[in-house]
Amino acid sequence: MPEPLTPGELLALDRQHVWHPYGPMPGKAAPLLVESASGVRLRLAEPVEGRDELVDGMSSWWSAVHGYNHPVLNDAAQSQLGRMSHVMFGGLTHEPAVRLAKRLVDITPEPLEHVFLADSGSVSVEVAVKMCLQYWRSLGKPRKQRLLTWRGGYHGDTWQPMSVCDPDGGMHELWQGALPRQVFADTPPAGFDAAPDEAYAAQLRELIARHADELAAVIVEPVVQGAGGMSFHSPGYLRVLREACDAHGVLLVFDEIATGFGRTGALFAAEHAGVAPDVMCLGKALTGGYLTLAATLCTAAVADGISRGALPVLAHGPTFMGNPLAAAVADASIELLLSQDWAQEVKRIEAGLRDGLAPARSIAGVRDVRVLGAIGVVQLDHEVDMAAATRAAVREGVWLRPFRDLIYTMPPYITGDGDVARICAALCAAAREG
Ligand SMILES: *Cc1c(COP(=O)(O)O)cnc(C)c1O
Repeated sequence: MPEPLTPGELLALDRQHVWHPYGPMPGKAAPLLVESASGVRLRLAEPVEGRDELVDGMSSWWSAVHGYNHPVLNDAAQSQLGRMSHVMFGGLTHEPAVRLAKRLVDITPEPLEHVFLADSGSVSVEVAVKMCLQYWRSLGKPRKQRLLTWRGGYHGDTWQPMSVCDPDGGMHELWQGALPRQVFADTPPAGFDAAPDEAYAAQLRELIARHADELAAVIVEPVVQGAGGMSFHSPGYLRVLREACDAHGVLLVFDEIATGFGRTGALFAAEHAGVAPDVMCLGKALTGGYLTLAATLCTAAVADGISRGALPVLAHGPTFMGNPLAAAVADASIELLLSQDWAQEVKRIEAGLRDGLAPARSIAGVRDVRVLGAIGVVQLDHEVDMAAATRAAVREGVWLRPFRDLIYTMPPYITGDGDVARICAALCAAAREG
């Protein structure tokens, strides 16, 4: 066993050596040191604001839908570990990957037929883009290599995904000029229940028609734009995109990395619109938050188009493609989800969030409060003071990670009513102090 390190030593080494997401080096704000996690609770190595345990309001960035240290997922991981944690996927295959692929094809919209197992969400988006560009090249239309999206989106941090993230979203502005130049429509008008705005629908149709010769695909997050701004829009716009893409020979990609596996109240957000994409990306909750894994699914038509090209293969193959450990846990996680009335649990949490966040509307500095499925958002009229907001939530015994002007929660589906109420109280406290 290595020499034990004190929490103080660990935090000092962390600051000195370890990058954190979107962080400076050396680090500025000290992260909380987590010792273990179980159910919906994170256990801290030393108390912060008098708390050594926090209710997790974030599901570790939308992923831990069943909570932590779940016996079923632990079993799946342990039993796979006893067989093999990894073998290469070139020339070899294995039961966990095959089972998972079959299951994903079974539960996603009908025409999606083929599965590429990637190692992170961003890579699955790279693969989706590569599929679309290569499809048109194979069909003799190499000019079709741009993408269209709407503003306010987020698709990951590698190169192609960055090019379709919100162009005014701060972080990516740095790369103007270096990134591929894509076609942007306005941010979709807000409101899941709002009637689709005809002028906005017309803008989408017009842009797709105008750029059809150079567009390989339209890529969007259906219904919920996550890390780009936590906003909800009418599913009607997805039908507009589907029709316009069909009319003008453009592929449609749904990035369901954040919305997949029930978060919005439907198993996949595409179901709210009753439309299917040509390509779909999944990630985040795919393994129940246990391991990194993502998937890009496509229709038989897309795969067939690619296979008709001069290079009749999809030239992509990450080292850890199809990782058996991650695939076994993903399969168990989906089975666990489907074995229970998950939709009822998400509805229950939705009701709890609506009740618990209602008081936030009257807090000074709050611009909007919105809830959809197991997603609750309090939007301020100013940039959140991260340190103050985090401290306020921790004092309430809750872990939240606000960004920009947004304080939000996406709790695990197993979160009990009392803990949902507590998370809401923490959001309100963070809104007041942040
Ligand atoms: C998180 C996210 C990604 C990127 O996934 P990573 O696993 O972080 O690379 C892409 N698209 C959406 C919609 C996401 O929410």
